[in-house]
Amino acid sequence: MNEKKQFRAIKGTRDITPPDSALWNWFERTARDTFESFNFREIRLPIFEETSLFARSVGGETDIVSKEMYTFADRSSSATPEGAPADPGDLISLRPEATASTMRAYIEHGMHALPGNVKLYYIGPMFRRERPQKGRYRQFYQIGAEVLGSSDAPAIDAEVIEMLMLFFQRVGLTRTTLYINSIGDKNCRPAYVELLRAELQKVKEQLGADSQRRIDTNPLRVLDSKVPHEQEIIAKLPRIADHLCDACKENYAGLKRELALRGITYEENWRLVRGLDYYTRTTFEVIAEGLGSQNAVCGGGRYDGLVELLGGQPTKGIGFAIGSDRSILSIQESGNLPQLPGLDVFVAWMGMDTYPTAVKIARSLRDAGFDVELPAEEMKFKKLLNLADRLGARYALIIGSDEVASGTFTLKRLSDADQKKLNEANLLETLRSERRGTRA
Ligand code: AMP
Repeated sequence: MNEKKQFRAIKGTRDITPPDSALWNWFERTARDTFESFNFREIRLPIFEETSLFARSVGGETDIVSKEMYTFADRSSSATPEGAPADPGDLISLRPEATASTMRAYIEHGMHALPGNVKLYYIGPMFRRERPQKGRYRQFYQIGAEVLGSSDAPAIDAEVIEMLMLFFQRVGLTRTTLYINSIGDKNCRPAYVELLRAELQKVKEQLGADSQRRIDTNPLRVLDSKVPHEQEIIAKLPRIADHLCDACKENYAGLKRELALRGITYEENWRLVRGLDYYTRTTFEVIAEGLGSQNAVCGGGRYDGLVELLGGQPTKGIGFAIGSDRSILSIQESGNLPQLPGLDVFVAWMGMDTYPTAVKIARSLRDAGFDVELPAEEMKFKKLLNLADRLGARYALIIGSDEVASGTFTLKRLSDADQKKLNEANLLETLRSERRGTRA
C-alpha cells in the first residue's frame, strides 16, 4: 500500500515562518544594534559540545544536566566499536545554554590577553528536553551577553542590566519587572547554605518530594519552589541578605547605587537564586506580562570562578540570556508590533513585448534597495492587480505596450489607487521620497 506519511515537526520544536520570521529578524537586529552600541561583539558558537563541559559548569545536579540534555555518543570520532557503551568522555550534547561554550571559547582562544573587558554576545537555538507548553519548547532561542575580565566592579553588572532593559524598551517589551538579588560568594554562601539546609531539615516532612530531595542536592533551589503549600514555609526561612559577608554586602549596595544612577527601577527578590550552579553575588531576572506561568523572559547573574573551574585563569564574569520565543510572544500579545517593511513594488507587465523592460526595471529597483516581485509568467491585467493586492504590495508598476513606446511607467499606489506616469528617474525618486516619508 502506498500510504503517504505526513511528516510533522518534532514535539517541542516549531517552524518560524513568514511573516513571523520578519518579526524575529527585527528583534535580533535590534539586539545586535543595542549590544554593539555598548561595544559588545558577536561570538558564534557550536551547537554541540562535550557533555562534560555542561556537567562541570551548569552542574551535574541541575535539572538541565541531569534530565534535560540531548546527549549521544559521537561514533565517528570515538574508537568505541559499534554497539559498545561509549566512554562518558566521548559523549556530546546539544547545548542547553551557551555560557559554558562561551567560557570554553574564551579559554581556548586566550581571550584573557585581549585589552579591557571582553564583551561578547550570542544568538541561537538551545535544546532542553522539557515538557512543552506555551512559552516552553525543546528547541528555543536565546540572545545572551557576557562580560569577562579581571574586575567585578558593580558598574559592570549595572551596565549589563542597563543594556538589557534598553533593548527591551526598544522592542516594546515594557510591561516587565526586573528582579535583583545577591546570593553571596564562596566566602559567605557555604555557611548560609548549611544554615538553610539545617532549617529545611526541621520542616522536611511538610515539603513536597522535589524540595525534600533538594535539601541534600541543592537547598537554594527550594527557594525557587512554586508549590503553593510550601510558600508559607519558605517565607520563614533565613534570608541570604542577612548573611552576606562585608565584601558581598558592599558589592550589592554598589549595584543598587549604580542602577539608581542609570534610572533603572527594580524589585529585590531574596528568593531569586537561579537554577544553575555557577552563579555568585548578583542574580537578576526579568518577567513579562501576558505569558502565564512561563513568564521569565531573561535570567542572568555573576559567575566569578567559572572560567577557572573550566581550567582557565581566575576571571570575573557576568552575563544574561534572553528567551526570544517568550519575549516575542509577549510583544505579539501586547499588540505593540512594529511597522515592518514589506513588498514595495509588484511589476505588472502585460504582453511579451514588455517583458524585457520589466526585467530591467525590476533589477534597477532592487539595486536601489526596494523589495520587488516580478511575475514569472504572463497574466491578465485583472489577475495581476489582484495578486499585487493579495501580496500586500505598496505599489503596482504597470508596464504595457504604451508605456514601453513612450519610455514611461505607470505607478499605482494600491492603498488609494492614486496613479502617476513617470520616467525611470522620476519613478526612483518618487519611491525614495515615499520611503523617507514612512521612515520619518
Ligand atoms: P536560563 O538559561 O534557564 O536562565 O533561561 C533564560 C531564559 O531562556 C528564560 O528566562 C526563558 O525566557 C528562556 N528559556 C529557558 N528555557 C526555555 C524553554 N524550554 N523554552 C523557551 N524559553 C526558554
